[in-house]
Amino acid sequence: MLETSQIEISKSALKQNVKFINEYLNDGVKFSSVVKGNAYGHTIEKFVPIAEEAGVDHFSVFSADEANLVKKVCDDCSDIMIMGNIDNEDLHWAIENEIEFYVFEMDRLESALIAAKKINKKAKIHLEVETGMNRTGFDNSDLKTAIKLIKENQEHITFEGMCTHYAGAESIANYLRIQNQLKKFNRIRIAIEKEGIRPKRYHSAGSAATITYPKTQMDMVRLGILQYGYWPTRETYIHYISKYGEPRQPLKRILSWKSKVMNVKKVKTGEFIGYGTTYLAQHEMKIANIPIGYSHGFSRGLSNIGRVLVNGQRVSVIGMVNMNLMTIDVTGCSNVKKGDEVVIIGKQGELELSVASFSELSAQVNYETLTRLPVNIPRKIVD
Ligand SMILES: *Cc1c(COP(=O)(O)O)cnc(C)c1O
Repeated sequence: MLETSQIEISKSALKQNVKFINEYLNDGVKFSSVVKGNAYGHTIEKFVPIAEEAGVDHFSVFSADEANLVKKVCDDCSDIMIMGNIDNEDLHWAIENEIEFYVFEMDRLESALIAAKKINKKAKIHLEVETGMNRTGFDNSDLKTAIKLIKENQEHITFEGMCTHYAGAESIANYLRIQNQLKKFNRIRIAIEKEGIRPKRYHSAGSAATITYPKTQMDMVRLGILQYGYWPTRETYIHYISKYGEPRQPLKRILSWKSKVMNVKKVKTGEFIGYGTTYLAQHEMKIANIPIGYSHGFSRGLSNIGRVLVNGQRVSVIGMVNMNLMTIDVTGCSNVKKGDEVVIIGKQGELELSVASFSELSAQVNYETLTRLPVNIPRKIVD
């Protein structure tokens, strides 16, 4: 292996998560797998095929470039939905390839209609309505015009969905705001149906809403973090276990990050280790270097704080995290040697280092830590 570390993606862990999700969902609710942010760092290329193997057939992305990546590796039967950015000039490409996309303003809706007429193929749209997140979504003022346009052009438009997104379902602090959003969504839903049109699916929930507010599941849920084996927040997990009695962990993290010991050496009492004077050897020490640094996504903020697993033990990062390497204290490990496996995220023997513990220390959340794992670290599928 030329690379200094490797990320493993576990197929069986993903299968277990998909099974849990399907059992948890209300009857008949469709599961769309959210693979934006390069499948939360797992990479679209590696993740999409194993998700399909686990039974997933609907993928949600943020933008057209991500949709294109999914399309390259997915099965012909899987659906792709763009929830965010697509330029007007690319709408004909999306329509041609039967890629579904959100419309949240008149400009995109009108452009989609023009493109659909031009290539004589239906645009598959999801009407995103404003319910209180105040990010994207049709405001009331434009909504009437949009509905009229959809109604009058049903030979050019497939009304795939009506949708919204909650502004923080992962925290009880936003409880009232979420309830108001849900109420508003239902009011708009009734108004649209009064006009005599109806989307194929209503959808609003991501991972947190799916767990905490089951009513929001509607016809489809868009799940990201949960399928990769993480709870959106600790609060969401506590909500789950308080509802289902004794604590249990139905999710499995599918990603592990591993490297190898580059070298081992001794340091005398009273010497500083690494750049500057942040770490002083208080006794005779044995240290090892790992060829992972901040350029590989191991935050410099974890200097003198981070932990890794080696030799079946949890050991500390000492001194500053360098660009390409970091140093660990292996004084207490009797037989650590060059080439030994080092786990940065994942399991070794009985011990586990989760992204969560890694993120808390560096003040990043799961979402951010995962998506910032560099693309040039090779991903390998394991069972
Ligand atoms: C990212 C995203 C999701 C998925 O969020 P998770 O918390 O990872 O499940 C769902 N819907 C929209 C619109 C999103 O942007």
